Amino acid sequence: MIRSVCRICHGGCGALITVRDNKVIKVTGDPQSPMSKGWMCVKGMNSPHIANHPDRLRTPLHRSNNKSGSWQKISWEDALTRIAERMEKIRSGSGPESIALGQGTGRHHYMHVVRFANALGTPNWYEPGLAQCFIPRISVSNLTYGGFVTADYYGDTPPKCILFWGHNPLVSSPDGELGIAVKRALEQGAIGIAVDPRRSETAKRCKLWLPVRPGTDAALALAMIHTIISEDLYDHPFVEHWTSGFTELKEHVRDCTPAWAAELTGVETTAIQEAARLYASTKPAILDWGLGIEQNSNSLQTVRAIACLRALTGNIDVPGGDILGMNLLNPFPTLANQLPKGMIKKRLGAEKYKLLGGWRAFMPSAHIPTLFQAMRTGDPYPVKGLLVFGGNPLATLANSRQIYESLQCLDLLVVTDLFMTPTAEMADFVLPAAFWTETDQVIGYPLVVENMVYCQQKAVQTGECRQDEWIMDQLSRRLKLPHCEEGLEEIMEYQLAPLGISRQELKKQGVITRAHRYYKYKEKGFRTFTKKIELFSKALKRLKYPPLPTYQEPSESPLSRADLHEQYPYILTTGSRRREFFHSEQRQVAPLRKMRPYPLVELHPDIAARHDIEKNDWVIITSPRGSIRMKALVTEDIRPDVINVEHGWWFPERPEPDHGIWDSNANVLTNNGPPYDPGFGTYQLRGMLCTVAKER
Ligand code: SF4
Repeated sequence: MIRSVCRICHGGCGALITVRDNKVIKVTGDPQSPMSKGWMCVKGMNSPHIANHPDRLRTPLHRSNNKSGSWQKISWEDALTRIAERMEKIRSGSGPESIALGQGTGRHHYMHVVRFANALGTPNWYEPGLAQCFIPRISVSNLTYGGFVTADYYGDTPPKCILFWGHNPLVSSPDGELGIAVKRALEQGAIGIAVDPRRSETAKRCKLWLPVRPGTDAALALAMIHTIISEDLYDHPFVEHWTSGFTELKEHVRDCTPAWAAELTGVETTAIQEAARLYASTKPAILDWGLGIEQNSNSLQTVRAIACLRALTGNIDVPGGDILGMNLLNPFPTLANQLPKGMIKKRLGAEKYKLLGGWRAFMPSAHIPTLFQAMRTGDPYPVKGLLVFGGNPLATLANSRQIYESLQCLDLLVVTDLFMTPTAEMADFVLPAAFWTETDQVIGYPLVVENMVYCQQKAVQTGECRQDEWIMDQLSRRLKLPHCEEGLEEIMEYQLAPLGISRQELKKQGVITRAHRYYKYKEKGFRTFTKKIELFSKALKRLKYPPLPTYQEPSESPLSRADLHEQYPYILTTGSRRREFFHSEQRQVAPLRKMRPYPLVELHPDIAARHDIEKNDWVIITSPRGSIRMKALVTEDIRPDVINVEHGWWFPERPEPDHGIWDSNANVLTNNGPPYDPGFGTYQLRGMLCTVAKER
C-alpha cells in the first residue's frame, strides 16, 4: 500500500494505492489525511479504471506525412530529439517568443511549465485560469489583503456562517477546499447563503439562495457593502485599525442601494438586505468564493467588491473565518530572472492587461485571445509552435472554432496527455503522460496558502508514460537551456528546505502539518503598501485602474445588447462542475460515463413549456457563435431566464478524429472577443445571450 494524494482535480484527497504486479488494483481514501479524512470522490475512487484503461497513451506518437498521415509509434529518444530540433528551428528563425506553452488547470506540473517557458526564453505561456479562474482571486487578495486567503474548514473552530459566492464546493472540491469539509461545516450548524443563478447542490443546503443574474455579482456585492455600512453592521475596531480607505468606500457605495442592485441582479431587495445582515452579524464567517465571479469582462472589480466584504466584517485570519496562508514551502524556482527584459515586453497582451502579464501579475502570462490571434494572423508577430501539457484547448477554451483555426496554422503542435483527445488528434507529436498514481511531487494545500504539505509518490509505471516534468527537463537538456541540469528531485528538496525535512522523510510521513497561526497581521501588518487591508487600493490607482470597486454591465446581456435580445432571449451560463468529470476528462471511463452518459442542459419549466420541450428531449442551444445539442434537464432549480450548459463534452468512443467535438461542446457557444476585463483580459464566459429549440 502506497500513501499518496489524488490530483485528478486540483486535488487534496489523501489516498492509499494498492498495487499488484505493477498495476493499481485499488485506491481508497487515507483516513490519516488531515483534509479528507478517508473520503474520496467518485473520480478518485475510480482511479484504477483510469490508470489501467486500455485507451491510455503508452508510447510517444508521431504523425507521418505532416498533418494528414497516420500515427506512428516512436521511441522517446526519437520523439524528444525531433521535437527539440523543430523547436530550435522556430527559435532560431523567429525567436523564442514564437513558441508558446499551454496547460490545463491546476496540474502537478503547473509551475514546471512556467519554469520551462522562462528557461526557453518565451514570455508566451498560458493556462485558462490565469484570467478566468482562481488567479484573479489570488491577485485581488494580494492587492487587497497582501496575501491569499482560504476558508478555515480544517481548524478547531467551525464557521457559523458561510457565504458561497459563485461556488458549488460540495461538488467541485476545489484547490484543497474539499466538499467533505464544507459538508461537515454545514452539518455542524453553519448558516449557508448561496449566490448562484442555479440552486446548486450547495445552495440546496443553504438558508438563503440569491439567484443572481450571471455577470452582475459586483452590483450585488456593492449593495451588500452599502447595507453593512448604512446599517452600522461593520466591525468597527477591525475597520479602524486594519483597513484603509473606509471613508472613500462609504461615499462610493452611497447610491448602491439594495433596490438599485435588485433591478440589475434580479435578486429581491429584501433578500440582499437579509444576506448582508446575516453575513455581517454571524461570526466567524467564511466567504467561500468560486470562479462564477471571475468569468466576466468586469472580473477585477467584481472580485474586489466581494473581497471588501471580508474586511468590513473582520473575518480575516480568525479561527473559523478566512485565513492567510502559512506558506510552508519555498516558492517554486520558476527561473523568472532568466527571461530577458526584451522578452517581457513582448509578452502577448501584457501591456494592456497588467494584472495578467505585467509586473504586478501573480504569474505573468500571455493573454489567450491575443496569443491565438497571433497563431492565426502573425500579428503582432508569428507564433509557430505550441506545446500543451495536460490540456484540451479545443474543448476548454472559448470560441472553439477559432481555436481550431489557430491550431491549424501552427508549424509544430505537441500534446502531452493521458488519452488521445480532439486537440491531440491535430498534433504532430503526442506524448504519453503519467497519471497521478505514477507521479512524484510535493504539494502544499490548500493551494497557494500551503498550510499542509503532501507527498505525491509514484506507485507504478504504465507503458512508457512519463511525468510531464521529465519531458520538459529532457527537452531543456537537448536545447541546452539554463539550469537544464537540475531536475525535479532537486526542486522538491529546495521546496521542502524550510520544513527541515528531505523528500525521503516526507515520503515516510506522507503529510506535514503545523499548528495554524491566526492573526498573523498583528505581527507586521498586512503585506500591502499601507500595511492595512486596502479598501481603496493604492496599488490599483498606481496601475491606473479604479481604486474602488465598480459595477459594469456584461458586454453581451439583455441590457447591453438589446439588438440581440429578441433573437436570443435567454441568458447562457456554463462551467458548473460535475462530480463524475474534471472539465473535458474522463468521458472514456465506463463507470463514470455510466453515471452521466450524455451532455445535459438545465432549463426552467417556463422555458421548456414555451418551446414544447420535455425532460430528456434533445434540444439545440444557439448563441451568436454557433449551435450545439444536449439533452434537456427541466428543473425549478435555476432562474427562469437562464440556461446552463455542461462544458467539456466530446465523445472518445467516436472513431472520427474530432471525436464529436462540435456536437455538444459548450465553447462553440462562448465568446473570446472583446471587451476584456481591463486588468486580467478576462472574456465573458457567463451571462451571454442564447436561445433554445427542441431538436426535430
Ligand atoms: S475531489 Fe479531486 S482530489 Fe479528491 S478524490 Fe476527487 S478528484 Fe481526487
